[in-house]
Amino acid sequence: MDVHNPATEAVIASVPVTPSVSPAVEAARAAQPAWAALSRAERAAHLGRLRDLLAAHADELAALITAEMGTPIGVSRKVQVGLPLTVLSTMVAHLERPLDEVQIGNSRIVRDPAGVVGAITPWNYPLHQTVAKLAPALAAGNTVVHKPSEVAPLSALRLHELAVEAGLPAGVYNLVTGYGDPTGAELAGHPGIDLISFTGSTVAGRKIAAAAAANLTRVSLELGGKSANVILPDADHTAAVKVGVANCYLNAGQTCTAWTRMLVHESRYDEAVDLAVAAAAKYVPGDPTDPATRLGPLASAAQRDRVLSYVERGVADGAKMVLGGADVPATGYFVAPVVFAEVDPDSTVAQEEIFGPVLSIIRYRDEDDAVRIANGTRYGLAGSVWAGSQEHGLAVARRLRTGQVDVNGGAFNPLAPFGGIGHSGYGRELGAFGYEEFTSVKAIQL
Ligand code: NAD
Repeated sequence: MDVHNPATEAVIASVPVTPSVSPAVEAARAAQPAWAALSRAERAAHLGRLRDLLAAHADELAALITAEMGTPIGVSRKVQVGLPLTVLSTMVAHLERPLDEVQIGNSRIVRDPAGVVGAITPWNYPLHQTVAKLAPALAAGNTVVHKPSEVAPLSALRLHELAVEAGLPAGVYNLVTGYGDPTGAELAGHPGIDLISFTGSTVAGRKIAAAAAANLTRVSLELGGKSANVILPDADHTAAVKVGVANCYLNAGQTCTAWTRMLVHESRYDEAVDLAVAAAAKYVPGDPTDPATRLGPLASAAQRDRVLSYVERGVADGAKMVLGGADVPATGYFVAPVVFAEVDPDSTVAQEEIFGPVLSIIRYRDEDDAVRIANGTRYGLAGSVWAGSQEHGLAVARRLRTGQVDVNGGAFNPLAPFGGIGHSGYGRELGAFGYEEFTSVKAIQL
């Protein structure tokens, strides 16, 4: 498989297609009992060595991710590599804490590893999404067969080399490369897999759940989103709009949690649109290796074309393009930032995940109307509420049907459960909840 640099369109690597996933699954099965038999402290030491090696190679990994999928280098360092380092540290800390088992009457509740985990990951945060599965799965005593995205597999290949260097026993972390179908599909339907953990599109998630059902394999799905940024009339609109635009455009909009729908009260609508256009115009598409660049290319030509067709659809459906059409570099899969105003909440651009730098600003009448619009998609992954007081923001956040909500710009918490409802999937990642996802519960009566 050829891997393209989306900023230059050059082929930067060629990666083999694994002919069959079975040898990897067999290796994982063979290695699992001994890995699970290690003490928590021994598994923590393995994960700690992997974290230290990742930290030592952070700049190299950030450059590799920028080359394989176009994230601006500053964001690559901070998020694409910084976040997996944090996640590995949280799992080491989790294992170093004393085991806290629940007692219910005469029953001791213990957690066994699920067994062999099949991990299938996308291209948008390729290292983070891998580590968000690998670290808790290994911590809990599972072994892993991982298939990274065909669009951006290079950081996973490098991670695997570092895992070998860290001394992980053979068979504990196995990597298979290939396309979604057949390689990913073979993994999802393999009878030797005990749990499939998938991050990616809703379309692929549905196919994976169906393939896994044949073997009654457990499935955890982290899928797409269409998250709402609800700005209440008494909120600080300057902060809410600025942070909202930054959230929507992070990683060129290729972020599953992106707040792509900005909901503004009719009394402050025009003011918010002006603020959004001013903030969005600062995202000038450019060379992602330049530390000053905030908006890189989209990850592939297919993704660029998909986003451009959504922009055309928005215009055709009557949305008002208040920003768009700026110059982009002649080479590379760039899309200029787009802001749509007067967006009908039921229209295609307000309902479907676009995965590009496209913001839709929607008008609402009152708080009930805002909550109805926010909850009016099939997705439910993330979201945001901006209010005059934290209590008011919290009250509205409770009414949103979604997996995560940030009130007044509340910071991302790597220990909080992450995942969605509805077409955003099921299961949770990160922290103690993410660890438990890779275990099965056993009750021992004494
Ligand atoms: P994708 O679904 O096309 O691919 C994701 C992975 O699944 C790739 O490794 C791919 O090869 C594999 N795959 C595709 N079809 C498959 C099949 N039939 N069987 C098994 N494996 C298959 O998604 P993508 O385009 O790489 O990523 C973008 C999508 O991921 C967006 O929809 C985004 O919202 C979602 N995403 C979700 C989260 C989250 O945590 N909820 C995080 C990041 C991205």
